[in-house]
Amino acid sequence: MSAKIIDGVKIANGIKEKLKVEIENLKKKGNPPSLSAIQVGENPGSKVYIGAQRKSCEKMGIEYNLHQFDESVTQKEIADFINELNNNPRVTGIILQMPLPEHINARELQHLIDPRKDAEGVSPTNMGMVVYGKPTLGPCTAMAIMELIKSTGVELYGKEAVMVGHSDIVGKPTALFLLDKFVTTSVCHIATGERGTLPDYVKRAEILIVAVGKANLIKGEWIKEGAIVIDVGINRVKGKIVGDVEFDVARERASYITPVPGGVGPVTTAMLLRNTIEAAKLQIV
Ligand code: NAD
Repeated sequence: MSAKIIDGVKIANGIKEKLKVEIENLKKKGNPPSLSAIQVGENPGSKVYIGAQRKSCEKMGIEYNLHQFDESVTQKEIADFINELNNNPRVTGIILQMPLPEHINARELQHLIDPRKDAEGVSPTNMGMVVYGKPTLGPCTAMAIMELIKSTGVELYGKEAVMVGHSDIVGKPTALFLLDKFVTTSVCHIATGERGTLPDYVKRAEILIVAVGKANLIKGEWIKEGAIVIDVGINRVKGKIVGDVEFDVARERASYITPVPGGVGPVTTAMLLRNTIEAAKLQIV
């Protein structure tokens, strides 16, 4: 079997087309969406990400403002700035760029973002809503993973899924979304890897999602015949971007597989745009 490639760019474009109509409606009614990003220090990785964010917002007609702070900024200064953005009616979406310097407590700052302006869906209120099933502003990558799985049209009820990676923004919320669809879900992490039982879990996954950040961690021969494989990992190997799954072997066993790049990434950006528009709608008085 050779897997169908899940085309993240195509799915993202479809979502963005629908969003354009909503943006026009919001603007006509005098409620234009806008996204304010906060960046501390210089990080080559986040520079690329921010550039892409700006480009996609501008293409969609969403105002994008980047607020840069020096590495020496204090926790209080950023906290005060977030409060300013919270109180500014022209700002409808806020995003706190990672990574932050060590002296800054990211979680404390995320707690300060008004949940109605939380474009990344990382505030405790929005994260909490994930537990209840359908958050208004959910974590972007986890929502993107669900969109990619949905695009296959495969019935999820009763299926077995394995989520490799248990980060707050990807692994944990994705596992909760799957549970909500009555998918029996196992979550693996570093300790599973150390114990040596990762292949045993992967081999029984009808839906496999991998978000670790280690190239070729998941061997192609572990993939269950006919599985749906969603590869979230981003790794640079010899100047090329690759995922966490041994793609060439895995695609011969899977029924559907996401490429890296061109899979999860573009849909994650589309989810950020969708959240930005949902956030603007929440603030209409
Ligand atoms: P993270 O970096 O916070 O955590 C990594 C996870 O992998 C942890 O749960 C850890 O326990 C687990 N892990 C580490 N080694 C392991 C092993 N040997 N076996 C099993 N599990 C192991 O995770 P994150 O922030 O979710 O990022 C994961 C990857 O996904 C990174 O490559 C990141 O760049 C990528 N990512 C991509 C997107 C996108 O839009 N495409 C979005 C977010 C993250």
